Amino acid sequence: MDFETLCIHGNNNKYDNTGAISVPIFQTATFAHPGVGESTGYDYTRQQNPTREHLENILTRMEEGVDAMAFSSGMAAISAVMELFSPGDHIIASDDLYGGSHRLFHHISIKNGISFDLVDTADLSLIEPLIRTNTRALFIETPTNPMMQVTDLAGVAEIARKHQLLLMVDNTFLTPYFQKPLKLGADIVIHSGTKYLGGHNDTIAGFVVTRDKTLADKLRFIFKTTGAGLAPFDSWLLIRGIKTLPIRMDRQQQNAGVIARWLCQQERIKAVHYVGLESHPGYQISKRQATGFGGMISFEVDSEKTAHHILEGVKLIQYAESLGGVESLITYPMLQTHGDIPEEQREAKGINNRLLRLSVGIESVNDLIDELDRVLKETVQ
Ligand SMILES: *Cc1c(COP(=O)(O)O)cnc(C)c1O
Repeated sequence: MDFETLCIHGNNNKYDNTGAISVPIFQTATFAHPGVGESTGYDYTRQQNPTREHLENILTRMEEGVDAMAFSSGMAAISAVMELFSPGDHIIASDDLYGGSHRLFHHISIKNGISFDLVDTADLSLIEPLIRTNTRALFIETPTNPMMQVTDLAGVAEIARKHQLLLMVDNTFLTPYFQKPLKLGADIVIHSGTKYLGGHNDTIAGFVVTRDKTLADKLRFIFKTTGAGLAPFDSWLLIRGIKTLPIRMDRQQQNAGVIARWLCQQERIKAVHYVGLESHPGYQISKRQATGFGGMISFEVDSEKTAHHILEGVKLIQYAESLGGVESLITYPMLQTHGDIPEEQREAKGINNRLLRLSVGIESVNDLIDELDRVLKETVQ
C-alpha cells in the first residue's frame, strides 16, 4: 500500500459493525470483562483504547516500525523514552535541539542522574570522541530547530551500531512522509504530533515508534505505568489530520521553496536557512536520505528592530509558537522556543535577536509573499 493510502486506510481493524467510515471515538475510561480472567482486549483506557489503537496502528505502518504509542504531547513522548535510562547513563544529543527537549534533559533528566553532551551532529566526526563507557544513546534532530542543520542518519546509525548505542530520532520536522529514520537504522522515532501530523494547530500530541519488539515491550510498560496516553477525542483528531498529511506537506514544501527563494533576494534579509536551497550545507544529504525538504524556514533580518516590526506587523501570518499546521506561523526562537537556553550557547548557534522562524502553511503563496513584502516595506519608514 502506498504511503498516501496508508495515511487513510492504514488500520485494518474494524471497531464496530455499523459501516461507519470514520472510526468511533471510544470515550470510555474502562471496559467490562466478559468473564473472570477474561478481557475483550481492552481493560482501561490508560493502557489501551480502540480509537488510540487505530491511530497507533497507522503510525506504526507509516514509520515502518513494530509498534507506536500515542502520547498526550511530544514532550510526554520524550519524557517516556528517557525512562529507558538509569542513573549514571550518558547520552549524546544534537546541540540545536528543540528548546523543550533541552529543558527536559538539563532540568529533569539530569536530576535523575543522566548526563548529556551536546554536539553538532551534522559533523559526524565530532560524535565518537564523546563516547564513554557509560554512553547509552544518541538523540538526533534532523533538520534541527531552528537552524536547519542536517545530520546524516545512516552515518550516525553506523556509529550507534558500532558502539551499541540506542539511536533516537525526533522526526517532527519531516514526518515519515519525507523521512523514515527507522529504515535508516534508528531504533526509536519520536514525534510531536502537534505539528505536521495533526496539522491544524488544534491538538497537542506525541508519538514514540520503534522497530524492535523488546524495546517496544519496555516502552509499552513505561507508557501504561506513567500514564500520558493520548485521549480518545485527541486520537481521533490526529487520525483525521493524518489523512491529509501528504497533500498538506506537498503544498507546504512548495510554498516554502518559493518563499525561501524570494527571501534570498530581499535586501534586508541577511541569511535564509532552508534545507531545500542548493546553497544549504545539508542539501545533498537531505536529497539522499529524505524525499522532501519540509516547510520550515528560518531567516535573519538586518536588525532587532526589523525583527520586531515583522512580528508585530504580520496579520495573515500569525506570531505564535508551534509549526506544521495549515496556518502559517512566525516565531521568535530567541524568546519563545529557545528562551530557556543559556544566551551564550544560543548566540553561538546563530539564534540571535534578528532570527525569525517561519512555519509555512497551505495558504496561497502569493498572499504570503504579499504580506512579507508589505511588512518589510513598512519597516523602512
Ligand atoms: C514541538 C516539538 C516538540 C515538543 O512537542 P509538544 O507536542 O509541543 O510537546 C519536540 N520536538 C520538536 C522538534 C518539536 O518541534
